[in-house]
Amino acid sequence: MMNGRIGVYPGTFDPVTNGHVDIISRATRIVEHLVIGVAVNAGKGPLFSLEERVEMLEDQVSRMRNGDGTKIVVRPFSNLLMHFVEEVEATMILRGLRAVSDFEYEFQMAAMNTRLNSRVETVFLMASENHQFIASRFVKEVARLGGDIGSFVPAAVKARTLRRLGEPDASGRSWD
Ligand code: ADP
Repeated sequence: MMNGRIGVYPGTFDPVTNGHVDIISRATRIVEHLVIGVAVNAGKGPLFSLEERVEMLEDQVSRMRNGDGTKIVVRPFSNLLMHFVEEVEATMILRGLRAVSDFEYEFQMAAMNTRLNSRVETVFLMASENHQFIASRFVKEVARLGGDIGSFVPAAVKARTLRRLGEPDASGRSWD
C-alpha cells in the first residue's frame, strides 16, 4: 500500500485540455498520489482511442514540473468508478467544476458515489477563470470547423487533433 493520500481524477479526456492540466497540477497540492483515471466511455464515441487519450495525458504529465513530489500515474478504467477508486485504494475523487454547467451532473454523481462508498470523498476544484469555457467537446467542434484551438489545448494535443481530423473518415463522425 502506498503512503499518503491517494486521489483519483477521473474523466474522458477526449482530448486533454488546458483546463484538465490545470486541475491536475492543482490536485498535486492536495494528494500525495494522483491517479488520473481515463474512462473508456465508448458510448460517447470518442475522437481518440483509449490508448491515445492515455498517451496524451502521460505526455502532459511528463512535461509538468512537479515541485510537490506528488506521484502521478495515468490509468485506463472500464469498470464502475467507485470500484476503480477502491482498487487503487484512493480516498478521494477529484473533479473540476465549471460555472453552472457542471453543477447538476456533478452533484448527482457525487451523491451516487457517496451512497456507493461513504468513505470516499468527492472534492471539487473550481475551474480557473481563464479555463471556465474550455470543454473537450467544443475543442473538437472548433477544430473541425477550422478554428484555432491553440489557447485551449497543449501544442502537442492541438497537432494531434488536427492530424486526426485530417484523416479520411474523421469528418463524418459525431462526438458528444
Ligand atoms: P467526463 O466525461 O467525466 O465529464 P471530462 O474529460 O469531460 O470527463 O472531464 C473530466 C473532469 O474535468 C470533470 O470533472 C470536468 O468537470 C473537469 N473539467 C473539464 N474541463 C475543465 C475545465 N476547463 N476546467 C476545469 N475542469 C474541467
